[in-house]
Amino acid sequence: MIKRMSREAVFFAFQGKLKPAFRVQQGEEFLLETHDCFQGQLQTTTDLIDKLDWSHVNPATGPVYIEGTKAGDILRIDIREISLAEKSVMVTIPGEGVLGDVITTMETAVLPRSDTGLTFKGYTVPLRPMIGVIGVAPAQGEVSNGTPGPHGGNMDCTLIREGSSLYLRVGVDGALFGAGDLHAAMGDGEIVVCGAETAGAVRFSAQTVRLPNLPTPFVETADQVAVIASAASVDQAAASATHLMATFLTDMVGIPLNDAGMLMSLVGELKFCQIVDPLKTVRFEFPKYILEKTGYSLR
Ligand code: CA
Ligand code: ZN
Repeated sequence: MIKRMSREAVFFAFQGKLKPAFRVQQGEEFLLETHDCFQGQLQTTTDLIDKLDWSHVNPATGPVYIEGTKAGDILRIDIREISLAEKSVMVTIPGEGVLGDVITTMETAVLPRSDTGLTFKGYTVPLRPMIGVIGVAPAQGEVSNGTPGPHGGNMDCTLIREGSSLYLRVGVDGALFGAGDLHAAMGDGEIVVCGAETAGAVRFSAQTVRLPNLPTPFVETADQVAVIASAASVDQAAASATHLMATFLTDMVGIPLNDAGMLMSLVGELKFCQIVDPLKTVRFEFPKYILEKTGYSLR
């Protein structure tokens, strides 16, 4: 029986001074129950965003103390399984998001889920479960769960899904890991500031790895790696993610800079995660088959 961690233990800002709610060993599997990003406050189409208590937005379950993890370590978090609740909600918020200048009506939509898809007003779209908020405590201070950063947080990256591994640099001993804000589906960009927001549960394991120079946050999927960067503007985040991927390819993989640049131009993918939060998040994806050809492996 793996440890099941109740969604009753939540926090709203990643910070080193929080008391751990749960403890796990290196590599031990654990199941984290999560609320949706509204902590269940919006249940029907008549629950509009203006009745929301904003102090209960973006709860992360935890924090989880990972034994044997020290400040400065690189932690690999394996996302083993994502289970979704029966339904998701979406909202429009006048004034917010990329279309906030033209959207004038608040609306809440409820999206029922089946085994094959998600239904939005008669359209069926594929399920693409992902984790919006996932991170560790920063070395200093606190970061609201609504904000992404080097510690992780509200990155809203569609690659952070079942089967992926997320690498983060640990800020404090034990890491104080937490996650929440599952989406049953979301498109890159997160245009109206939400995906299909849903409660659920995620089965994780986490362990420190010896990759001291890895740029983080870093994601590994079955066939690609990606560096994630957040900044005040999309331009700054894009430049940062691109430079960090180039540094990874030159310093860690050993590809000469001009080759790395040309390969990034040839088969790399610069993509938006979200462009609606207090900081914007961009990722640079690079295919693993090139890494394999060089003989480099993260494992
Ligand atoms: Ca989010
Ligand atoms: Zn969300």
